[in-house]
Amino acid sequence: MISTYQRLKDNLEYLKLKKASESLDEVIDFITANELSFTEGLLRLTDVEMDHRKTNLIKAMVKVGAFPFIKEIKDFDFDFQPSVNKAQILEFESLGFIDKKENIVFLGPSGVGKTHLATAIGIASAKKRNATYFIKCHDLIMQLKKAKLENRLDDRLKHFNKYKLLIIDELGYLPIDKEDSKLFFQLIDRRYENKSTIITTNINFGEWDGIFGDPVIANAIVDRILHHAKVISISGKSYRLKDHLIKKESND
Ligand code: ADP
Ligand code: MG
Repeated sequence: MISTYQRLKDNLEYLKLKKASESLDEVIDFITANELSFTEGLLRLTDVEMDHRKTNLIKAMVKVGAFPFIKEIKDFDFDFQPSVNKAQILEFESLGFIDKKENIVFLGPSGVGKTHLATAIGIASAKKRNATYFIKCHDLIMQLKKAKLENRLDDRLKHFNKYKLLIIDELGYLPIDKEDSKLFFQLIDRRYENKSTIITTNINFGEWDGIFGDPVIANAIVDRILHHAKVISISGKSYRLKDHLIKKESND
């Protein structure tokens, strides 16, 4: 005869409550030791399954985000970069800007932490189960260009528009010709007042004509990005050169 215990285990497996099934012995011990009621015990068992699924889902969401590294706000040394307002970054981490469909632009030279901060906010968003995606500007444009050639630009634009938060890294590192600028404009135009975008760039807005090779398109893009945006200008030293600078100072 199959024991009650085994039948319960089979039921859990049939219902695909894998974690609950795996943890059954532990949970039974806990229930016995603490003399829990039926409701409390069942809650305990289902909590084990729920916690496991939530953790897996969070991991999956972060993975889908395609972040260049896993670095969070807690890993950012605000003392090193005093031009960054910690309270403002923590405010971004609470994700109100996503509900307001606002954008964030991180502006500054290489190594000051633009990608780190954008990624950290992106990870916070993914952990809250918002569809979030990180992409380098150049790769994004290559994808749009390829889609256009293959007559599926609209699908691709729809695809990028489904992200509640899209992070476009390194705008302006490579020039973008007029045709490609139009593709980029279409993406920005669809997301405008509809979804949040974070952009990192080393180029001041006044010089965006130089990135997009066409002042009218550049203007239309800047307009839509900045209309509802917080701009974080970082003017400090490169963190990449930190150790080098310290060595140099101690040599002086
Ligand atoms: P940027 O995108 O501005 O060129 P990154 O964000 O890629 O710079 O930063 C370069 C490296 O230095 C990354 O590994 C990042 O995590 C680290 N970094 C930058 N600023 C800080 C900081 N203030 N505290 C801790 N790590 C930092
Ligand atoms: Mg960067």
